[in-house]
Amino acid sequence: MDRRHDNRKLTMEAIVKRENLINRRNFLKMGIKAGGGALALSAIPIKLVAADEVTEEEPLAQAMGYKKDASTVDTAKFPKRAGDAGGNQFCHNCALYGGSAEDETAPCSIFQNRLVRGAGWCNAWVAKA
Ligand code: SF4
Repeated sequence: MDRRHDNRKLTMEAIVKRENLINRRNFLKMGIKAGGGALALSAIPIKLVAADEVTEEEPLAQAMGYKKDASTVDTAKFPKRAGDAGGNQFCHNCALYGGSAEDETAPCSIFQNRLVRGAGWCNAWVAKA
């Protein structure tokens, strides 16, 4: 191997090392940007992340007779909702409903503040004071 070839090899090694350094720098920059993205995601309001709606199929909803549409409640099984007085019971006029009568959905404390329908009902209904 001649000396000129060795010099060329050294030069190539230096270039590779420099490229690796640049790549490492870029990698670190990407990591910082990704970290920034994670920070941006963590800034999303908790209400948006945690605001999932209760489904009628889940066990607690079934046990409580929760229906998104109060008119579909099985009044034979849940007689509290039967008759004229029962027919006026909705989530939106329940003391445990965390919204106003105009809100389509709002958190309910029975369901760990997950969303229920204003037009819904469950057997834990309590009149608003
Ligand atoms: Fe609706 Fe009240 Fe039952 Fe919650 S406790 S699901 S607001 S009726």
